[in-house]
Parts: sequence; C-alpha cells; structure tokens
Amino acid sequence: MNFKFNKLSCLLLLGSILLTLSTSAKDSVIEKQRQNYKGKAPKYIFYFIGDGMGLSQANAAEAYLGAINGKSGIQKLEMNKFPHHGFYTTNATNRFITGSAAAGTALATGHKTSINTIGMDASKQKPLQSVAERARDLGYKVGIISSVSIDHATPASFYAHQPSRSMYYNISLNLSESNFNYFAGGGIKHPEGDGKVDKNNIMANFGMGTDKEVKNKQTNSIELAKKRGYRLLNTKAEFRKLKKGDDKIIAIAPRLVGGKALPYAIDQTKDDIPLSEFTKKGIELLDNKGGFFIMVEGGKIDWTCHANDAATAIKEVINFDSAIKVALDFYKKHPKETLIVVGGDHETGGMALGFSGSHYHSAFSILQYQDISNDGFSEIIDQYKKDNIGNYKLEDGMALVKKHFGLGDKEKGLELSAFETKQLKNAFEQSMNYKKEFKKDDQFYLLYGSYNPLTVTACHILSQKAGIGWTSFSHTATPIPVKAIGVGAELFSGYYDNTDMAKNIFKLLESK
Ligand SMILES: [Zn+2]
Repeated sequence: MNFKFNKLSCLLLLGSILLTLSTSAKDSVIEKQRQNYKGKAPKYIFYFIGDGMGLSQANAAEAYLGAINGKSGIQKLEMNKFPHHGFYTTNATNRFITGSAAAGTALATGHKTSINTIGMDASKQKPLQSVAERARDLGYKVGIISSVSIDHATPASFYAHQPSRSMYYNISLNLSESNFNYFAGGGIKHPEGDGKVDKNNIMANFGMGTDKEVKNKQTNSIELAKKRGYRLLNTKAEFRKLKKGDDKIIAIAPRLVGGKALPYAIDQTKDDIPLSEFTKKGIELLDNKGGFFIMVEGGKIDWTCHANDAATAIKEVINFDSAIKVALDFYKKHPKETLIVVGGDHETGGMALGFSGSHYHSAFSILQYQDISNDGFSEIIDQYKKDNIGNYKLEDGMALVKKHFGLGDKEKGLELSAFETKQLKNAFEQSMNYKKEFKKDDQFYLLYGSYNPLTVTACHILSQKAGIGWTSFSHTATPIPVKAIGVGAELFSGYYDNTDMAKNIFKLLESK
C-alpha cells in the first residue's frame, strides 16, 4: 500500500463516517417517530421546565413524601404518574456541561447553542425562533411563568434573542416586543439598565447592551412595556382581580427576594403567590378558541441545588409539582386537546441518593426539621455577625444550627458526631472571619463553594444524615428525564437530545 493510496482511503473512510453520522442523525429513532406522527396539534400546550431538576431531585422529593407519610419506598409525584417517559442529553456546542441559557435555547428553539447565549445560534449572530413565538404566530395565546425573574435565562429563551444572558435590559426590551399575553412570577431585573457598558466584554455587562443594541437608552423597559399595551401589577389584590379576557399582563409576585425571584417554597407564607396560583391564573386568562401555550419554570430548584440544600430543593420540587397538578386538572377536563410535557434544563449539584458516610442508610424524614432555606439561614448568620462584632460565640452558632436544621437535637435523632461538631466549628469560624468569596482554586472552595460556610456545612451534614450526597456546586451533565401526557405525548418517549424537545413541539404545531 503506498502513501498516496493510504491518504485517499483515509479521506474516503472519513467521508463515509461523516455521511453515516449525518444520515444516522436524520434517521434517528426520535426523528422517525416525529416524521410518523399523524395526529393533530394540541390546542393547549403546557411546557414545564424544572431548572436543575434531574432524576435525583424528583426522586428525593418522592422519597421524602413517602417517609413523612409513613409509606415504605416512595410517594410518586404527579409528574411521574404520566404515561410517557424519556431522557435527553444536554451538552452545549462549546461545553459538555451546559448552562441555563444554552439549555433553555435548545429546549425553546430546537437548536444547540453556545454557553450564555439566549435564543441565538452558537456564533451569537442569528436569532432563532422559539416554540412560543411559533405558537403565537399560529394564533395561540402565550404565557411565560417563572419562580425566578421573568428575564432569567430559561424564560428569556422563549422570547428574547441576545448574545448574552447577562444583558437583562435588552432581554426586558424583547419581553414587551414579544406580544405574548401573560408574563408572571418573578420581577424584571434591570428595567433601566445600569449604564456600565463594556463594549469589549459583553459577559461583564449586567444590565445594558452596547450603545448600538440599546434602542433607546432613556427608556425604562417597564414604561416601554406599558406603552406597548402591557399592564404591570405586583399586589395580591390586583392579581386576584385578573379575569378571563385580561390581556398583555405582567404579574409580578408581591414579595420578591434576591435576584427578583419568588421566595423559596420553604420560606413562603400565605401572603405570597405560589407558582401553582400563577399557573392557574394563566389558564384562566389564556383559555380561548385559539388555544394556548404556557411555559412554567421551577427556577429555584437549581439555585438551592447549587447551594447543596436538600430540604429546600425537595420543597421546590414539590411546589413545582403542585403547578403541574393544576395543568393536570385542566388536562382531565380537556384530555383530547391538551399536552403536558415536563423536562429540565440540566441537573445541578450532582445530587445522589446515597453518601459514603451513611453507607446504605437513608432517613429522608429528618429533612422536615429544616425550617428555612439556605438563603434565609445565611441572612440570619450575616445579621448575627453584624450584631456581635468581635464577640462571636460558637455556642450561639450551634444554637442557630440546632434551631433551624435540628442538628444536635437528640430528641429528633440528630446527635452530632465529634467530626460533625468539628466541621460546624470550623465553618462557624470561617463564617465569622471570611470577607470575600472563596476562589475556585482555594482549598475552602471544595468545602463551601461560594456560600456561607456555616450554612453550607449545616446543609451538607443534614443531607448526609438523610443519605444524600452532593458532588458539585455547579451543574452536571447527567441526562434529564422527561415526562409527558396527552396529545402527542408519545413523541417524548425514548433517549434523545434536548433539541428534540422543541423539535417535537414544532412538529405538533405544524399539524395545526
Ligand atoms: Zn438551569
């Protein structure tokens, strides 16, 4: 065999491999499944996205419900009672472990994109149409609901087209350009932009785009939304008064916490509006002859899993499931016209139902003793620190940990080992003394991430005693489960890619 022939055969081989790859993508099981769909378009479409919700988050919630209700094993979530189940991979074009913007764009538009890009191709040049925009053009009414700010990466992927998720001001301009009928949940992060324009680094630009991109620097995006016919409200009384036929509504929660998000479910009171009520109101406002498309994001499952807080995460999942139950009740009245799809954008925290230190032991019911979110507890510690400068006492820290996590309470079966006590002591000292966030190459980062050391240590110890382990303060690349019921739900069975979620919905809309 001479060299020339060898080179040629290599090229031919490479060519045939590439051909096979592209053919196999076109002829994939999911693609065939889609092409063979002969049913009609659903009149009512619900697209639920649990941000950071992988198999473990949902199953931990089921194990917790089983444990506190005295059942052996699990108590199924509503979403897991659905008849059709599948899994999908989530990688972005330029990173195996995805982020919410790239994943949201894939789930919304059916195209892979690069990290931090919203509704545009990987080169950040070309806008991509979302399923919500297509539905709007076909005469569906559209609702976008989230428990985090309504301009956050996941909801934004359905109406905005921006090179960076951080360009909140530009995203909020796109919001009112969308003509969608109902936005609800968290607030708008930067309605005025912050003026810190860094033309050389759009990633550093939290608020306003470059001069060219901002259409009118002086215009507050909320005022602009009003000029474009939107009504913005943020009280419970106004929310309750909303009725069928009210259109172009931006309904913001009466109480917003960090990041203009809804409070965590574990911290909510009767004065808050839960995700399920925002969903219920969406159905009431959007139900019409032309049908509706509603996207609901459970956005804080991700946030609390970044902080490795199992009890708060489980309550977020249960809260998200209550919103799904609202859609399911609607489905039961319109089973031949409704589709409900539940997915997630990526897993967060590397949550595992098992931990080396707890061996084969699980005790999910102890998570009920945590009465506050990681954020809420960190605020308490920060306040303690302010009130007791130079006079910090370890026993005060241990008393707060006992009060809010049950840790150290013998009656609850939560005695601390000498090692756990030492971990809390070290964390308390770090919490009282540290000034800046730990850097990723710092030894403390592995212990505490970017969180309050005492909070994250209490969360870790309670998780571990329950039999839950965490491997990361970031996202992981584990495939995401999808569950579906109703018209076209069978398209969501199988093992495919996150882009197939949107491709399936586009296909279903085609039949309209
Ligand atoms: Zn996410």
